[in-house]
Amino acid sequence: MLPSIFVSHGAPTLPLEDAPAREFLRDLGRGRTRPNAILCVSAHWETDEPAVSEVERPATIHDFYGFPQALYRLTYPAPGAPALARRVAGLVNRAGLSCRLDASQGLDHGAWCPLLLMYPKADIPVAQLSVQPGRDGRHHLGLGRALSALRGEGVLILGSGGAVHNLRRLDWGQTGTPPAEFAVAFDRWLDERVTAGDAEALANFRDVAPGAAQAQPTDEHFLPLIVAFGAAGEGAQGRRLHQSYTYGSLSMAAFEFSNR
Ligand code: ZN
Repeated sequence: MLPSIFVSHGAPTLPLEDAPAREFLRDLGRGRTRPNAILCVSAHWETDEPAVSEVERPATIHDFYGFPQALYRLTYPAPGAPALARRVAGLVNRAGLSCRLDASQGLDHGAWCPLLLMYPKADIPVAQLSVQPGRDGRHHLGLGRALSALRGEGVLILGSGGAVHNLRRLDWGQTGTPPAEFAVAFDRWLDERVTAGDAEALANFRDVAPGAAQAQPTDEHFLPLIVAFGAAGEGAQGRRLHQSYTYGSLSMAAFEFSNR
């Protein structure tokens, strides 16, 4: 059973930045069992009901504005994973949730920025799964749990979001501003609850986590973590693989989850 993973993808410029998180993601791809396929749960694909990309050749979506031209030239030409997408939809349906097969969704930067670093050869098939910001943490825990069998089939379930994600509180100057208190408090809480395998707290993060209102002003960047945690099954626990901050208070923390 492969562990499921959550990574913080930071700013779209991550592949171009000389930052600890970039080195971490490069090592992450090198140091692990190579998956047969990847299901990436991206914070940047928001739908009302779960949707999965059933695409032979997913396009690289440059879903950001005002960044350096070099970033728009990067592509991630990995093959799609339409058979995996159909398997995902079947598993999600069986758990009593709807799941739409989407024939046009490409890879947004939540997916391709970390994947470009983890698997630069772009030779592992990828499907993308959406998040539902209109639904709560419990829904996303259930969505993840529905997928746990995939871990035994060589599928890497990769949540991509942000452990602390408040774009109004960034220091774009990279002047070495230390992270704000709310960010440190939320990050610490997250590490503790993941380590404890506290599904209840993670699903209810909005109500119970210190600094949640500032650390996650909206839900979508945290939901991929709940899905990835859920995908490790009942009794899942996790451990932090990486922690750093970029632009002041943007946490780049990453975790892996398993129920061994
Ligand atoms: Zn993002």
